[in-house]
Amino acid sequence: MRQFMRMLAIVAMMYIMAMFVGCARSFEQKILKIPLSQAGFVPTCSDQAEGTLRTFEAHVGRTLGITVTYDLADGSHAGGYSPSLRRIQVATKLDAMGRLEVIAHEAAHAIQPPGLSRSEADVWADTVAMKVCKRFGIDIEPQTSRYLAGQKQALHILHDYQAEIEWAVVVLTGVR
Ligand SMILES: [Zn+2]
Repeated sequence: MRQFMRMLAIVAMMYIMAMFVGCARSFEQKILKIPLSQAGFVPTCSDQAEGTLRTFEAHVGRTLGITVTYDLADGSHAGGYSPSLRRIQVATKLDAMGRLEVIAHEAAHAIQPPGLSRSEADVWADTVAMKVCKRFGIDIEPQTSRYLAGQKQALHILHDYQAEIEWAVVVLTGVR
């Protein structure tokens, strides 16, 4: 009987793992179908995320020692992260939802695995950001897909760093 239970547990584990891999594959398929001409970062316009933004910003400050400033006004960047200053800068023009997306992306850069190329790092950061937002009940998969359509050469990160991506989401949300 105990052996049967153990078998059952192993089968269930394999099933769950297959589901994770399946999810990553279908997400990748969606991204691959988006033409490069439509790729890019288009922030969501909504101020519905004000409360979530405040909670998230406080969590990032507390757990990673990162401060956030909303003073990036060069017009070409939505955000940036400085490891030496431990500071995330966010574009002035974004509203709450756009800010949340950018902070999640930049905070993911702060804990990214070493040795990634620029494209790989952006696939990492935007995938983590999408999953962080999902934990907050906000679906930004269409935006993330469009952004990652510009990084098709680095989509292997979705599979190669699956465990690290899930770890990063737990770190950034505090939710297991
Ligand atoms: Zn980035």
